Amino acid sequence: MIPILDLKAQYQALAGPLQEAVQEAMASGHYILGPRVRELEAQIASYCGTTHAIGLNSGTDALYLALRALGIGPGDEVITTPFTFIATTEAIGAVGATPVFVDINPLTFNLDVTQVENKITARTRALLPVHLYGQPCDMEPLMEIARHHSLRVIEDCAQAIGATYRGKRVGTFGDVGCFSFFPSKNLGCFGDGGMAVTSDAEIAGRIEMLRRHGGKRKYHHTELGVNSRLDELQAAILLVKLPHLDAWNAARRTCADYYNRLLDRVPGVVRPHEAAETGCVYHQYTIRVRDRDRVQAALKEADVASMVYYPVPLHLQPVHHSLAHSMGDFPVAEQMANEVLSLPMFPELSPEQQRTVIGALQVASQSLAVSRS
Ligand SMILES: *Cc1c(COP(=O)(O)O)cnc(C)c1O
Repeated sequence: MIPILDLKAQYQALAGPLQEAVQEAMASGHYILGPRVRELEAQIASYCGTTHAIGLNSGTDALYLALRALGIGPGDEVITTPFTFIATTEAIGAVGATPVFVDINPLTFNLDVTQVENKITARTRALLPVHLYGQPCDMEPLMEIARHHSLRVIEDCAQAIGATYRGKRVGTFGDVGCFSFFPSKNLGCFGDGGMAVTSDAEIAGRIEMLRRHGGKRKYHHTELGVNSRLDELQAAILLVKLPHLDAWNAARRTCADYYNRLLDRVPGVVRPHEAAETGCVYHQYTIRVRDRDRVQAALKEADVASMVYYPVPLHLQPVHHSLAHSMGDFPVAEQMANEVLSLPMFPELSPEQQRTVIGALQVASQSLAVSRS
């Protein structure tokens, strides 16, 4: 079986240093907001190029606390994409604001910047772009719109740590960049974890306060916060892994290049697009095919794993029933939800495994082409 990702391979490569780091953290007696979290925050801030980074429970909490810190709440509208993981709109809903969707660009799968201004109303407070699959959004025109309309920008970078747009890292364009260290992300810990980055000291201070029950001093609370702290054990693990992130992302790109070449010979498959101004980190390598579900079933028969991120766009999810959307509202997102298929992608993926994946895909698409004709 060729898996969609292989977390054990990465663990095995770093088993010694990881065990040592965890042992040290356990023996230190300091488990919450200690020196490892502080060190990781400093390293992530410097990696991204921001002045502040705040370690949190999860990427979902990073989005939620970023919105809270910016004072976005009931009555406010936040413009985002319908083609993302539920956490994006969950966070908007959790602060009491309303997500307003914009359809996506079929090449990049990211929100179509040319449609954003049509959705701005008197209630619009923020833009929440998602750098899906590790591919940066078109940030320059988006930031231009934000400046023109005095909107806040929160970047969902959960899938895109290390990705660049015009040479600058994602997460540093808007007011806050939100990262996830969920195990399957490009930089993953061994549980849940997240981080918010910002170069605004006031926003950083607010997120820091909110993550520890809404108080700057212990047992003195100025507003309702939450308990959302990255723990020392996860920080210890991430400190071992972070120095390898760029090499892992480069390995993903090498795999993507090789997939692209192998797919040259496979008709009926749309390969991922990479805009010239972006450095994509291929959290996913996502193709588009007709008869997607049958292609996926055929791959499974051939012992090749694949995934559909995401089969139902958010405007059609029961949880967003109150937004009163229906099929046809965001046709590109709907079409992509029917056509996308993510192939195995992880830094340790071998060329041989990639040839097996594409061989199986070729067989599947040929037999489907025959059955169609
Ligand atoms: C993973 C993910 C999140 C949430 O991150 P968690 O750490 O799992 O809470 C948010 N947005 C996107 C696009 C994601 O892929």
